[in-house]
Amino acid sequence: MSTPLTANKVCIIIGASHGGVNLAFALRKEGWEGEIHLIDKDPNPPYHRPPLSKAHLTTDDGLEKILLKAPKAYQDNHIELHLGQEVAAIDHVHQLVNLADGSSKHYDKLVLAVGARPIIPPIKGIDDVKHLYPMRTADDVNNIRSAFSQCSAKRVVIIGGGYIGLETAASLRKLGGEVTVLEREERILARVTAPIMSEFFQKLHTDHGVNIRTGKNVVELRQNTNGQEVLCSDGTVYPADVIVMGVGIRVNQELAEEAGLKIDNGISVNEQCKTSHSNIYAIGDCTFHYNKHYDRWLRLESVQNAVDQAKTTAQALTDKNPEYDALPWFWSDQYDVKLQMVGLSDGYDEILKRDESTDDQHKFSTWYFKGDQLLAVDAVNNAKAYVVGTKLIGAKTQVRKDVLSDPEQDLKALL
Ligand SMILES: Cc1cc2nc3c(=O)[nH]c(=O)nc-3n(C[C@H](O)[C@H](O)[C@H](O)COP(=O)(O)OP(=O)(O)OC[C@H]3O[C@@H](n4cnc5c(N)ncnc54)[C@H](O)[C@@H]3O)c2cc1C
Repeated sequence: MSTPLTANKVCIIIGASHGGVNLAFALRKEGWEGEIHLIDKDPNPPYHRPPLSKAHLTTDDGLEKILLKAPKAYQDNHIELHLGQEVAAIDHVHQLVNLADGSSKHYDKLVLAVGARPIIPPIKGIDDVKHLYPMRTADDVNNIRSAFSQCSAKRVVIIGGGYIGLETAASLRKLGGEVTVLEREERILARVTAPIMSEFFQKLHTDHGVNIRTGKNVVELRQNTNGQEVLCSDGTVYPADVIVMGVGIRVNQELAEEAGLKIDNGISVNEQCKTSHSNIYAIGDCTFHYNKHYDRWLRLESVQNAVDQAKTTAQALTDKNPEYDALPWFWSDQYDVKLQMVGLSDGYDEILKRDESTDDQHKFSTWYFKGDQLLAVDAVNNAKAYVVGTKLIGAKTQVRKDVLSDPEQDLKALL
């Protein structure tokens, strides 16, 4: 019997989150017979991140409820997990990863699934405040929950009105917090969506009692005996028992940079997720990659992208000839609103809104066009619009705008 192609090979994956874990299992499925090592500095067993700002924050059900895989699945698939271990450097000449504890591991194939970390801006006084937390890891949620439960006034200031800041606002409001969101831009979600969606979410939060303040540039943080204060450039001051920082993320690209890999807006990879060094691949939030559908280079922050690139890389590492070709999609849950977004709306010149709301429920979708080309769809409590939109964008179908704008007509007629 001949030895399988990968039997004696070692694959090391740095980062055991959505990208890394999906890759490890996909590799086994694709027939990789060598060793697979998943290394992560986070000491917790790998978990889903999206629930952190949503149900996991409000329910405190324990990490077991949001694990990416049951612990036994790693054993059954001979995937070695090295948790609480940080990779300090990559020696690509000798094909080694050097760990922070001084040990080294040899690899034949290396995959960077290192993701990103929250931006902590250098605001005056930031190092002096006791209860300021980012929202990226399970430990961040534990810290927020514990600080929140220990204070009586429950005043929360969230710096940044993007999806993560707003989801955190909705969750802490649900727990009885007196929540203020401070956004530097003139509208929330300015970086990621159109004014029509920003207005909807601003009203949704206001109706739920969250104080949303836009055009607020935070310039100083102060610790005093009654908690903390957040000071803005216009002189306004917001007292806070807990501050959550949600102003965006920065790619963990230093390991790649120091190893000499090509970097652009993230770690550059080709259509097979290979970096500029042979034997080194990268997947997920840390990658800068080409999107065939939109004919441009992108960096995406979404679970789906991490999973898609994991599948592509598993095929590439087992000598198939895959080509990454995926439509970006993303979701967000706030209160009783489930938002599903597909495609990229940048460059749109027309928006059509299809309103199917009832007295009890928001239900609508916004359709972004450039000329006749449908670029993206945002669907609020409307799975059908999301599914139909995905098909239409994927197939580049010309959409009948009269049918679309008339909620009496079935969306399926567009297919
Ligand atoms: C609160 C929150 C809510 C979200 N909600 C949604 C959502 O609703 N929908 C959606 O699509 N996406 C959502 N996202 C984004 C989604 O979680 C990310 O896109 C996804 O986690 C990316 O996966 P990844 O594997 O590329 O990177 P990450 O999840 O960032 O994982 C990277 C891992 O690498 C490890 N690592 C980095 N450097 C090293 C090193 N040197 N040594 C060892 N380990 C290292 C890190 O510890 C980390 O565990 C959310 C994110 C957050 C934080």
